Amino acid sequence: MSALSELYEEIALCQQCEIAKFRNNVVPGEGAEDADILFIGEAPGWHEDQQGRPFVGPAGQYLDELLASINLKRQQVYIANVIKCRPTGNRDPLPVEIGNCRKWLEKQIELICPRMIVTLGRYSMAMFFPGKSISKIHGTAQKRDNVIYYAMYHPAAALHQQSLRQTIGTDMLKILSLLAEAKNIAEAKPQPQPQQLKMFEV
Ligand code: URA
Repeated sequence: MSALSELYEEIALCQQCEIAKFRNNVVPGEGAEDADILFIGEAPGWHEDQQGRPFVGPAGQYLDELLASINLKRQQVYIANVIKCRPTGNRDPLPVEIGNCRKWLEKQIELICPRMIVTLGRYSMAMFFPGKSISKIHGTAQKRDNVIYYAMYHPAAALHQQSLRQTIGTDMLKILSLLAEAKNIAEAKPQPQPQQLKMFEV
């Protein structure tokens, strides 16, 4: 059994948040265990909770289309979320839930060791680009400790706001060239952090 599969078993036992009581399935994430690119969304929705898989509803179909636009299939990347259980009533994740679930995402990053982390939406952006606004930094990248962090709007945003479709499509198209030119991207200045974590408090 791979280290990631062992981690899924651990995550499935987690009852730290109230929402764990209401889930049908925990949604740890899926994809290539050695993926170069890790996409991080927000939280499972109804479809994801039913299937135990990330991004399988309408936003997921659009994410699949975006991946296809750069000739990638979801099996070639890794897709995870900031929190692993569906927030009841489709509300936004609570800070306490993000805090409780953080260890799982940190462990996933450690095991997958991606070259690029793409944040989808403001919750995952807040973990890696603290204090920034999605409308300002979407489509921009930062390199830290040799990992490229790249912020994008959440695919669901384009489903609600058609005008964002082109922006998201354009941002997606930059991903492969950023990876190809990773060595030319300057490292961002180290940020003052307690334990040299690769991600930051929300
Ligand atoms: N939205 C997310 O952020 N994650 C999913 O898995 C599905 C929808």
